Amino acid sequence: MKRKQVSQDILYVVIPCYNEEEVLEETTRQLKEKMKDLITTKKISDKSRVMYVNDGSKDKTWNIIEKIHRKEKLFTGISLSRNRGHQNALLAGLMTAKNYADVVISMDADLQDDINAMDEMLDKYYQGNDIVYGVRSSRKKDTWFKRTTAEGFYKFMNKMGVDVVYNHADYRLTSKRVLDYLENYKEVNLFLRGIFPLIGFSSDIVYYERNERFAGESKYPLKKMLSFAWDGITSFSIRPIKLVLNLGIFIFAISILILIYCLIVKLFGYTVDGWTFIMCSIWIVAGLEMLSLGIIGEYVGKIYSETKARPRYIISRNLNEE
Ligand code: UDP
Ligand code: MG
Repeated sequence: MKRKQVSQDILYVVIPCYNEEEVLEETTRQLKEKMKDLITTKKISDKSRVMYVNDGSKDKTWNIIEKIHRKEKLFTGISLSRNRGHQNALLAGLMTAKNYADVVISMDADLQDDINAMDEMLDKYYQGNDIVYGVRSSRKKDTWFKRTTAEGFYKFMNKMGVDVVYNHADYRLTSKRVLDYLENYKEVNLFLRGIFPLIGFSSDIVYYERNERFAGESKYPLKKMLSFAWDGITSFSIRPIKLVLNLGIFIFAISILILIYCLIVKLFGYTVDGWTFIMCSIWIVAGLEMLSLGIIGEYVGKIYSETKARPRYIISRNLNEE
């Protein structure tokens, strides 16, 4: 399905912000230029907006968003009642923006994702794609540590059976239609990168160079990245439980060999030795058992939070409605 570009669809750019007072002014300056450019070249309608999502920031982020909105109608914002984390903030933004927009692009507040890729994303959208994934062509500007851990993350996810687009974070274009379907994915343990490939429709990829964060600090320290990865895996794949099962089978097979060994040793009457062997067995087997229980417990925990189905975000302010 080709879309006629004369239609000039309304674009909303959704940006989750958590303690981003240092970057917001500069981000706004760059985006204003870009949006004006897209509007004058008639790629998007002049009703298009940039929507900041204040994720319960503890600094002046929301004041700055309000100030920007008063000065410039091109910018709008919503505020969450408290900090809910990047994925929930992004979801809140997407679900709000789809009420006003035909097409939505999500990106981070620090503009690490090159905003000039938006043109190509829109081209691909008008060619008939419902999802356009922004993919990092290189991570030269990331630190060695961030690059290795992040790329390891995508490889590990794929090994665990989760279908994610390699080196794609949350810089993506989605049509309103896709967002309407996204609303049906009610999961509380949210991992958006895994959900979009599941929704389907025709999609394409745009490559861009990832920049450095120009100010402020990363809100994703290693601890958060690890828990994000673990959440992603356990929300989309039960392969870890299968690994536990395989481990159990393997250890059971060994235990039969050990049983035979023990009987033979008993028969020949050498039963005094073997303290080291027993101690090692106890610790290894108990450790593996606890590990396995822990993995299964993770899934029980997921069921626990999913059955409660608590709201994923609460919007306290929406500048579009004020
Ligand atoms: N963010 C958020 N809520 C949080 C943590 C982060 O909305 O609890 C936002 C943050 O403001 C930024 C985006 O998520 O726009 C990505 O965060 P960051 O740039 O720190 O992550 P990195 O690029 O280092 O992975
Ligand atoms: Mg960043």
